[in-house]
Amino acid sequence: MPKQKRIAVLPGDGIGPEIVEEGAKVAKAAGEQFGYTLQFDFGLVGGGAIERLKQPLPQETLTLCRESDAVLLGAVGGPRWDRNPPELRPEKALLGLRKQLDLFANLRPATLFPGLAKSSALKPEVLDGVDLLVVRELTSGIYFGKQFTEQTERGAKATDTLVYEEHEIERIVRRAFEIAKGRRKKLTSVDKANILESSRLWRKVVDRVAEEYPDVQVEHMLVDNCAMQIIRRPTDFDVIVTENMFGDILSDEAAILTGSIGMLPSASLGGGDRGLYEPVHGSAPDIAGQGVANPIATILSVAMMFRHSFQDDEAAKAIEGAVTDVFASGARTMDVVSAGELALSTEELGDKVVEAL
Ligand code: ATP
Ligand code: MG
Repeated sequence: MPKQKRIAVLPGDGIGPEIVEEGAKVAKAAGEQFGYTLQFDFGLVGGGAIERLKQPLPQETLTLCRESDAVLLGAVGGPRWDRNPPELRPEKALLGLRKQLDLFANLRPATLFPGLAKSSALKPEVLDGVDLLVVRELTSGIYFGKQFTEQTERGAKATDTLVYEEHEIERIVRRAFEIAKGRRKKLTSVDKANILESSRLWRKVVDRVAEEYPDVQVEHMLVDNCAMQIIRRPTDFDVIVTENMFGDILSDEAAILTGSIGMLPSASLGGGDRGLYEPVHGSAPDIAGQGVANPIATILSVAMMFRHSFQDDEAAKAIEGAVTDVFASGARTMDVVSAGELALSTEELGDKVVEAL
C-alpha cells in the first residue's frame, strides 16, 4: 500500500523557485525510495501573487494548503514590493499562512555539517559538535499585536504591541519540553524578564510546566546574554524556547554556527500533523536568477517534512545523511566554499544529494 501525501508547493519570489525545485526533487527521490505516492500542487504566494492577483495570500493558495498534508515554501519578498502598503507586502503572506493554519511552533535546528566549520567566522574548536534547536513561538507576540501611527504636534508616533496570553505560552513551552525530552534533555528559555511584563508571565509558565518534566534540565536566560552565549559557547545549548521576535533574531544569529544562512531549515507546526516547511533565509534578491543559491536549507526542510508531517524519521535521516555525505565529499555552493574549493550551482548540489540518497 503506497503512502499517499499531498504537498502544496509555494515557490514564491527571488531565489524561492530555484531552491524549491531542488527541495521538490529530493522529496520525490526520497518518496520513491520509501514507498510514497506524492502529489505536488503549486500555488502562488508573495510578490508573484500580488502581481497576478493583487494579494499576497490568495484564497485558493490558502485552500490548497489546508487540503494538503504539508506545505513546501521557498521565500517571499523583494525590493519591488518594499514600498507597498502593509496589506500588499509579500511578507504579509507568511504571517497569514502561519496564523490561518495555526502553526504556532517554529522549529529551527542549527547543525554543523562536516567540513563547514571553516566557512564560519567562529573558531572551529568553538563549533565542534554544534547541534541546537531554536523553538520559536510563531503566531503571537509583537508581530501580531496592534500597530498604528499617530500624528502629534512633535511629529509621528508609532506603536507596536507585545501581547502574550498564558495558553499561547503554555502550548509552545510544552512542545519545547517534549522535544527536549527526545534530545539531550536541556531546555533554555529565553526572555527579557528584567524589563518585559510578557516575559515575566513567560517565565512563570515555564516554571509551572517544568514540574511535569523532572528529567529535563531547565535554565532561564535573558535574550541579550543568550545572543552572546550562542556564539561564545554554542555547544552548551540543546533546545532554546523563546517568543516570536527573539526567536527570529537568535535563529539568524545561529546561522553563523553552520557556515551560512543557506544551511538553516525550518518547520512550522500546529496541533496536528500538517506543517509548513521553508528555509530560514529570505528571497535573497541579490543572487536571484543566477543559479548559485544554496539549496540545502530547503532540502533539510524537506527532511523535517518527512519527520514531522509524515512521521517518518527513517526517510528524514536518509535525507540528512545524504546531505552529510555530499558535504563530506567536498561539494558546496558559493556561500560555503573555502579557498581552493570549487563552487557548484544550486542544481548541481541538488543532484548530488539525490545521487547520495
Ligand atoms: P527576510 O527578511 O526575508 O528574512 P533578509 O533581508 O533577512 O530576508 P535574506 O534574503 O535572507 O535577507 O538574505 C540575506 C543574505 O544572505 C543575502 O546576502 C543573501 O544573498 C544571502 N542568502 C540568503 N539565502 C541564501 C542561500 N540560500 N544561499 C546563499 N546565500 C543566501
Ligand atoms: Mg531575515
